[in-house]
Amino acid sequence: MAKTSSLTDKLTRDFPQLHLERSDDFYWSPSTSTVHYGDMSSERDELTLLHEVAHALLGHHHFKRDIDLLRIEREAWDYVRNVLGPKYGLKPDEETIEDAIDTYREWLHARSKCPHCSLTGIQTGDSKYHCLGCDGDWLVNDARRCGLKRYAISH
Ligand SMILES: [Zn+2]
Ligand SMILES: [Zn+2]
Repeated sequence: MAKTSSLTDKLTRDFPQLHLERSDDFYWSPSTSTVHYGDMSSERDELTLLHEVAHALLGHHHFKRDIDLLRIEREAWDYVRNVLGPKYGLKPDEETIEDAIDTYREWLHARSKCPHCSLTGIQTGDSKYHCLGCDGDWLVNDARRCGLKRYAISH
C-alpha cells in the first residue's frame, strides 16, 4: 500500500499540472484533464496508471478515426517504456503491451466489419462506416475508454 500511494505522490510532485483522481477504473479524460485511477494492487496497475499519465502528458485528445487509436496507444506505451517506466523503476513487459494493443485491434476489426456482407468497411465519419462491397452503411457507438481495464482489474 505504501508503495502504491508513493507512485501517485511522486507523479503529483513531478507533474504538478496533472490531475489525478481515485476512481473505479484507469482512464484518461481529456475533457476534464484528469487521470483517473483504480485499485493499485500490482505492478500492472502501476504500469496502467503510467500509461494513462502518458496519454495526459502527450496531450492525447479524442481521436477522429478509429485507426488513430492504435497510433496513440502505441505512443503512450512507447512513452511508458522509454521515459516513465525507467523514471519510476517500472518495466512493462512486451506481452502486456501487445495484449493491450491486440484488444484495440480486435475492437477496431469488429467495428469495421460490414454487418451485411462481412467485408471490412471504411470509416466515413466519427461513428460511421461504409462498405464498398455491398454499399451498406452502419453506425458504431463510441463507448470506449482507453485503458487496459480488461487486464488491469483482477477479481
Ligand atoms: Zn457489405
Ligand atoms: Zn491508452
